[in-house]
Amino acid sequence: MTETTDPHCGACRYFRPVDAPTGTCHRYPPAFAGENSPRETHHWRFPVVSNRAWCGEFRPPGAAVSGLEFDLQRG
Ligand code: SF4
Repeated sequence: MTETTDPHCGACRYFRPVDAPTGTCHRYPPAFAGENSPRETHHWRFPVVSNRAWCGEFRPPGAAVSGLEFDLQRG
């Protein structure tokens, strides 16, 4: 059984709900969904994830965003 304190998409800063069990992950830009993607006019989509899934990029709301810690002076 999954504890409610376990990291999961539904509690991640990058998750946006779509319906009760699923949402979209906005950790990275949309990915190409294919020329024949039936519901898209632009063919690019954010990944659809279960709110109980998780990945190594999980960040709780308000956490620092990784990738922004680089040194701007070093170019
Ligand atoms: S846990 Fe991973 S897959 Fe799920 S919303 Fe967060 S970044 Fe996306």
